[in-house]
Amino acid sequence: MKRIAVLGGGPAGAFAAERLAASGLETVLLDEKLAWEKPCGGGLTYKAYREYPFLIDNDKPKKIVWDTYLSEPKAGAVKMKLTHPLVIYSRFDLNRMLLERAERAGAQLEKTRVLEMGRGASRWHIRTSGGVIDADFCIVATGARNSLRQVGTQWTRNDTMFALGYYVPSMQEHIDIQFLPKLEGYIWVFPRCGHLSVGICGKGESAQSLRKRLEDYMSLRCISWQNAAFYSHVLPSLATPAWKTNHIAGDGWLAVGDAAGLVDPITGEGLYYAMRSGDLASRMLVEERHPGSAMTTAYRAALHRDFAADLAFSATFARRVFVGRFLFGTVPARMIQFMRRSPRFHDLMQDLFAGTQPYSDLKRRLLRNLNGTLHEVVMNFFFGRLVTGENKI
Ligand SMILES: Cc1cc2nc3c(=O)[nH]c(=O)nc-3n(C[C@H](O)[C@H](O)[C@H](O)COP(=O)(O)OP(=O)(O)OC[C@H]3O[C@@H](n4cnc5c(N)ncnc54)[C@H](O)[C@@H]3O)c2cc1C
Repeated sequence: MKRIAVLGGGPAGAFAAERLAASGLETVLLDEKLAWEKPCGGGLTYKAYREYPFLIDNDKPKKIVWDTYLSEPKAGAVKMKLTHPLVIYSRFDLNRMLLERAERAGAQLEKTRVLEMGRGASRWHIRTSGGVIDADFCIVATGARNSLRQVGTQWTRNDTMFALGYYVPSMQEHIDIQFLPKLEGYIWVFPRCGHLSVGICGKGESAQSLRKRLEDYMSLRCISWQNAAFYSHVLPSLATPAWKTNHIAGDGWLAVGDAAGLVDPITGEGLYYAMRSGDLASRMLVEERHPGSAMTTAYRAALHRDFAADLAFSATFARRVFVGRFLFGTVPARMIQFMRRSPRFHDLMQDLFAGTQPYSDLKRRLLRNLNGTLHEVVMNFFFGRLVTGENKI
């Protein structure tokens, strides 16, 4: 029987290990920390728990959040009631739940650091801080800071963004998303059980500058970071060329999750894609339909069909979403103004938040509804002026 080593026990590795072990393959998962509070918002969209219902149907601590406020300095704020709530976990709780599931399915978990791996005639020899482990196949799930040089995506500066923030001992019941001038990213305030995750992600900007922007925002909102733990991490955000050359598989290995760069370049959502790629990779091994190098091609094709083509497409216009201009204003400002005045546009944004609106169909939906949306915006604008004397779009 094949022995599979899963390197890394975040959502990608833990879920792959669960699937492999449940299918009867001998599976060993190696992680230097096992369950830990990985820097993350911890938000799971409807798309994630629709595909994997146990993510919402369980008794683990989590926040179910229905209301989101989107803001931009010039346009102000708009409230969006989500049709499907966002489920927010602490990463310790989410990772622990996924690792427990993997262990229950029969995977062997080991707390150890993978130092290097070498390929013999047909087997891997994996050197860890605890010794050497042999395996027939490796699933590489070591995240965005993958230190194993020969496996997993190798990206340039242009393919990542910084993400940092604070765990603030405070409470609120809604999500805040704040856009800022010339920021290719956004600030978030996510309510979690017992604290808030307040963070910022941004591309092409230093961590220092992002931290300054975040602290300015927190001061303005009277959110203190005095007793808050600081976190920072790198987030894959592949640019268009990298989606084509992405090194996600090779002889005897498949990469999943952040180690394969599988993160939404616009929203930074990576949890669903980590689990989904773990699921697809494990199917490749369980089904054994693609021997040798054919598996690389088959895995790449499976990812492409499932979600990677859509994410690659979103990379072509990600920058414009944050710093582009439309009708003499910034795109985020216009987005908020349209949401306020057009129920159709509001619906579209709800679907984007739920993860049920593919990027590849966005333009078509916008054009299909253009007349109606503009009609709603214009009617709302004039009605607002007539009734309330309001004079800003
Ligand atoms: C600040 C921030 C906020 C985010 N917010 C969200 C969000 O709200 N929603 C969302 O969907 N996504 C979010 N993401 C993205 C999400 O965190 C990642 O996409 C997700 O964690 C990827 O899962 P993974 O299993 O691939 O990697 P990870 O979760 O990073 O797991 C990798 C694992 O590998 C282990 N490891 C690494 N190297 C070794 C080694 N050499 N030996 C042994 N073990 C090793 C680590 O200990 C770790 O447990 C956010 C990311 C950041 C940085």
